[in-house]
Amino acid sequence: MNAILTEKHYQIRQKVRRFAEEKIKPLIGEYEAREEFPVELVKEMGANGLFGMYLPQQFGGQGTDYLSYIIAVEEISRIDSSMGATLAAHNSLGIGPLYEFGNDAQKQKYLPGLCTGERLWAFGLTEENAGSDAKGVETTAESENGNYRINGHKKFITNGGSELAAGITIVAITGENGGKKEYTAVLVDREAPGFVREPMKRKLVWRAADNAMLYFNDCMVPLENQLEEKGQGLKVMLKTLDSGRLSIAAIGLGLAQGAFEMAKKYAKQRKQFGKTLAEFQSISFKLADMSLKIENARNTLYNACWLKDNGHVYGKQAAMAKLYSSEIAREVADEAMQIFGGNGLFSNPEWPIERFYRDQRLLQIGEGTSEILRMVISRSILNDE
Ligand SMILES: Cc1cc2nc3c(=O)[nH]c(=O)nc-3n(C[C@H](O)[C@H](O)[C@H](O)COP(=O)(O)OP(=O)(O)OC[C@H]3O[C@@H](n4cnc5c(N)ncnc54)[C@H](O)[C@@H]3O)c2cc1C
Repeated sequence: MNAILTEKHYQIRQKVRRFAEEKIKPLIGEYEAREEFPVELVKEMGANGLFGMYLPQQFGGQGTDYLSYIIAVEEISRIDSSMGATLAAHNSLGIGPLYEFGNDAQKQKYLPGLCTGERLWAFGLTEENAGSDAKGVETTAESENGNYRINGHKKFITNGGSELAAGITIVAITGENGGKKEYTAVLVDREAPGFVREPMKRKLVWRAADNAMLYFNDCMVPLENQLEEKGQGLKVMLKTLDSGRLSIAAIGLGLAQGAFEMAKKYAKQRKQFGKTLAEFQSISFKLADMSLKIENARNTLYNACWLKDNGHVYGKQAAMAKLYSSEIAREVADEAMQIFGGNGLFSNPEWPIERFYRDQRLLQIGEGTSEILRMVISRSILNDE
């Protein structure tokens, strides 16, 4: 039970849980082992209404609140983080800025197709010299005869390289204003000439997710692909990251929940010294601490979603939710691994704790590292008082 959730939220949780258990769980281990992006499973997520669910029906969505979508990410990630990340990146980073900042023509052109499951959209900020320091972006978009000529690259991009990848919103330099770089968000369709995509493999984490290096070599897109006004790229980025952080928090929460459930089940059946592991106080107290952390993470995240859904400022709470969920995901996965002993260290389709232990490591890095989030939160609380 959770005070913020309504009957509708519980129904959505049940529906997504069933989908994740029946469709993703039996197959994902093999895709993960092959480092293969499961195109058909991703299409099924879309066909089951998980893409763009918080969009109004006129754009192909289902008009749910943001919390419902966050619960969906949590439930998918309870089974697998690669699929949780695919869902989160598409909805929060891909669809999010198009819906929030797109003009009518852009919304009509892009959003309905992005709700079907046949097309994914990505968001590209990170480059070789622009990680935590977003202003380090070096990709340029120069205006030329009704087009933007784009040169540069984007790195690590989730949903950027597969056959479903339909395009990306990038943040690029479009000039200078008062001696400062001017950043603008620009939409690049996969067919744009000079756009090259290269999948990145051999990851520690999210091995069934699509991450790519993207190159823009004199890549031409029409000026009408500009998202929001010229010079508003950092605003688009900051707003996108605020909601993106809610979805990364949901991946952490779901992963922690999945690891906890696995550890609890194992502790109740594995026997040593004639007793189940759960009968030893040091193990049952681990489970108690894990469950407490998950409860706190869930309350922090749902509260941040409630603020967003009800039109309040939620940036600090989103940063707190992301920081907390990602850190407890590490702690819970680590304790779960301890409960499994040596069995946990081997890849095992029945008990995939080894995958959960690896996957949590991205969460303290992507969409604001834990260090950067502490900077965001501390600035916010110091400005408050
Ligand atoms: C699997 C994966 C998927 C991703 N998907 C996307 C995507 O879809 N789109 C996208 O744009 N990006 C994406 N990213 C990029 C991700 O957001 C960045 O990795 C992240 O922002 C950190 O940047 P960095 O890796 O360059 O680390 P760096 O910025 O180089 O940081 C390295 C270390 O230095 C610390 N540090 C940096 N600056 C400071 C400071 N001022 N004070 C204290 N410590 C500091 C950091 O906290 C970190 O510990 C993805 C990354 C991965 C690994």
